[in-house]
Amino acid sequence: MDVTTARERLEDMLAELDRSIGVLQGDPVAVREYSAADAGSDLTDADRAQAMLTVASAQRRAVIEAIKRLEEGVYGRCVDCGRPVPEGRLEARPEAARCVQCQGKQERRR
Ligand SMILES: [Zn+2]
Repeated sequence: MDVTTARERLEDMLAELDRSIGVLQGDPVAVREYSAADAGSDLTDADRAQAMLTVASAQRRAVIEAIKRLEEGVYGRCVDCGRPVPEGRLEARPEAARCVQCQGKQERRR
């Protein structure tokens, strides 16, 4: 994926996340409309909004960091081992900061 495409995709993601976060920080009833897919859970609307907000905020941070790496010319390299992140992984997750191996290690550490 070339840098221009990566930037466009990241900026689209950022705009989308900003919109979602705006909704989530607003009216909890709007959130219920927004997340109709997981009806039937015991979570209150406010709990669900909070959970989604946490996920969206983390992803937003990842996207912003990816844009920063683009600007620094190090986009597409694993932040841990420095090896190139495979193309297919970046296609699926343009904000990915690590190669699959390092991401696995990172997640096991939690
Ligand atoms: Zn790595």
